[in-house]
Amino acid sequence: MAPLEYLRPSDEGAAIALAEADGRACLLAGGTDVVGLLKDGVLAPSRLVDINALPIAGVEIRDGGLSIGALTRLSDVADHPAVRGRFPALAHAVLAAASPQLRNMATVGGSLLQRTRCGYFRDPVTPCNKRAPGTGCSAIDGEHRLHAILGGSDRCIAVHPSDPAVALLALDAVVRTRGSRKERAIPVDDLYLLPGSTPERETLLEHGELIVAVELPATSFAARSCYLKVRERASFEFALVSAAVALDVRGGVIRTARVALGGVAPRPWRARAAEAVLRGSRMTEATIAAAASAAVRDARPREQNAFKVELVRRVLTRVLATAGAGG
Ligand code: SF4
Repeated sequence: MAPLEYLRPSDEGAAIALAEADGRACLLAGGTDVVGLLKDGVLAPSRLVDINALPIAGVEIRDGGLSIGALTRLSDVADHPAVRGRFPALAHAVLAAASPQLRNMATVGGSLLQRTRCGYFRDPVTPCNKRAPGTGCSAIDGEHRLHAILGGSDRCIAVHPSDPAVALLALDAVVRTRGSRKERAIPVDDLYLLPGSTPERETLLEHGELIVAVELPATSFAARSCYLKVRERASFEFALVSAAVALDVRGGVIRTARVALGGVAPRPWRARAAEAVLRGSRMTEATIAAAASAAVRDARPREQNAFKVELVRRVLTRVLATAGAGG
């Protein structure tokens, strides 16, 4: 591993300045992804800015919603009574992520910025447009069983690996960020970029811009939300397909719906076509089947990952039936 400078500032301004001043600086939070990428030679920063001393951890009830500090550990998010009671999809998603040991270290901010698990991205000797722009995509003609069926491009078909990000998308969460010149509130729905011709750019964040909090607004649909993840083994595994749904059902009619998918696209994927089917409908088997089909209407599977199309339908059928139970 190449030598690097390690710094541990204790205030936000200093952390941002240190990161912005070095174009090859990397922020370090829980380290559960970044340390592996450093050891594998996928990341080679000249400066590591450890942000763990910053006072941006903890869950606060604010304006009827929640503000979750970016350094809050995933285990603390899942344990919080307000998360479990009022935003159950997030608690489910966090508990489906990684292992208890990793959840004790991983942070909510870091979870949003996890890098893809594409094996070629994590192997520095293979061509990969995301890791080394312009070198090609090894997955398109190689191993792509776990790759995207929605939102990919001819440059990259990797999937985003985060479970919490899928739930946060369905819950209309907003990311608060801070840079040296501005502070921003970015809806999770706007945070992520599709790969297009620049798969190395994954989010709207600028170099050195720090996520300081994730805010969950009070909505009519958060309490009736859930998350389901299907994976190849029962724990410590990334999603083949996952889904978060949140519903506002009154008098048997769905007033508002949010449907988000994981494991199928380069970003947490909002299934707006499924939401349109649900909105204004009664929660019947026919409605669920129509919504589940609508979610994959635009899917473009490849030879090895066509199974994900039917898997999305089945996962959505189950999670919608669960969230919709009770009228
Ligand atoms: Fe790299 Fe994306 Fe292709 Fe994977 S799918 S090899 S991350 S360019």
